[in-house]
Amino acid sequence: MTLATLSDARSELHRIFGFSEFRGRQEDVVERVLAGQSTLAVMPTGAGKSLTYQLPAAMLPGTCVVISPLIALMHDQLRSARANGIRAATLTSADADWRETLDAFRCGNLDLLYVAPERASQPGFRDLLSTASLSLFAIDEAHCVSEWGHDFRPDYRRLRGLMDDFPDVPRLALTATADRQTRADILAQLAIPEDGLVLAGFDRPNIRYAIRPRDNPVQQLARLMAEEAGPGIVYAPTRRKVEELADKLGAATGRPVLPYHAGLDAEVRAANQHAFVASEDMVIVATVAFGMGIDKPDVRFVAHVGVPKSIEGYYQETGRAGRDGDPARAVMYWGAGDFARARMRLEEVEEARRQSERERLDALAALVETPGCRRALLLRHFGESPPNACGNCDNCLDPPQVSDATELARKLLSAAYRTGQSFGIGHLQKVLTGSMDERVIQRGHDRLSVFGIVAAEEAALLRPVARALQARGDLIANEHGGLQLAGNARAILKGEMPLAVVMPPRRRSKRGGAGGG
Ligand code: ADP
Ligand code: ZN
Repeated sequence: MTLATLSDARSELHRIFGFSEFRGRQEDVVERVLAGQSTLAVMPTGAGKSLTYQLPAAMLPGTCVVISPLIALMHDQLRSARANGIRAATLTSADADWRETLDAFRCGNLDLLYVAPERASQPGFRDLLSTASLSLFAIDEAHCVSEWGHDFRPDYRRLRGLMDDFPDVPRLALTATADRQTRADILAQLAIPEDGLVLAGFDRPNIRYAIRPRDNPVQQLARLMAEEAGPGIVYAPTRRKVEELADKLGAATGRPVLPYHAGLDAEVRAANQHAFVASEDMVIVATVAFGMGIDKPDVRFVAHVGVPKSIEGYYQETGRAGRDGDPARAVMYWGAGDFARARMRLEEVEEARRQSERERLDALAALVETPGCRRALLLRHFGESPPNACGNCDNCLDPPQVSDATELARKLLSAAYRTGQSFGIGHLQKVLTGSMDERVIQRGHDRLSVFGIVAAEEAALLRPVARALQARGDLIANEHGGLQLAGNARAILKGEMPLAVVMPPRRRSKRGGAGGG
């Protein structure tokens, strides 16, 4: 066997893939793999992770076993590998050609063998692997191995036992999203040396980030669509919302808009996805089920109606915009209720995971609430040291006004407390501003000490303050929408903790700065 070198790799890169150069840190990963060194590659979506195992797989003798979590993803990879003349196969329940695959594998005629972690962790698979020669284990979506990761899957934990039985086969773990803790965990779980980490830049400079409170999502999205004529993805939290938004946006804008969620028939889903990939102006409204493995470089915007699950999720989803490098937008429209619901769901999370889930939510709240550069916060979250301002996010382009809202927050918390912690912001606002509303009088809330203590000119700040308190978890909504004190509410009430709120800039006509609403 002759040793494959990096210069071989460059010519093979050209011969097999038709690319003249490696991109980013692909070369570092390929070099390590060819040298038989186990590696963790953390590279953003679209950076070209697949090539870092496909190229060595095509060059090295033996088969590269690829662990991949989704059948659809495997089949996409299979198609593109085969299109490049790489000998690849999948072993999934959807495949009818198992016999051919197994024969090819045993005879050393396969470069790539894709399997799901559930199959890889079965004892029979180990026996199968020992009948052939292996070049590499590639573990895609490797953050699934870590409980710190945002998508922990127990079957990934069993891969270690399998791979340990083949100690001479190097491992290449790949992921787009792993913060510091998750990275350390992946290295430990998969026994990859610490110096095997290859971390590529997370910055997507062509994406302009904006995060806005949600008032009228249809109107806000229609405005965004009027500014961005190219293809777009709108993420909505539920199937019902997806359907509703798709209908209303289509009607409001006259542009082609299709829904996508797991409740649709498989054929409809496939047809809608296909139509979107082929279109130059379509908007797809989808749940997070949409997007993994979709190669559409010209997506001009990704919008979130509601908050994503985590910063990792946000980065991954927004990362589907502008893969062609041309300017693209990522706009999130959030509401206090999004955080209220997420914090309520925390109570159902098993004890062991609750704290890390809470930290995930706090990090997301910090991103939403920051008056500073969004990109800087994102990149710091992934362990980079970016400059403090990027010049291409809403807060850099249009610095928001920050108000000291400590006194107002105390008044609001006090009103929530004195009305029995069972009213929403609408009612509290009426009490605080001294409205002679029927319900206020009926409840006797006009006789409370907090009645009318907020001046009219301050009233507009009440909602942003409530939103900020809810995002932080200092106010939480019960199932009837009643606001209850939680978190640091008592410290704020006692005047021991200041609170600053970001005032969203007034809607303006200037393109970009207001982020479509
Ligand atoms: P990831 O898995 O990191 O999200 P992919 O492996 O799907 O990314 O690659 C994204 C796109 O980049 C693909 O269309 C791929 O063909 C392209 N690509 C990968 N490597 C290179 C390269 N060295 N030069 C040009 N294009 C590349
Ligand atoms: Zn910025």
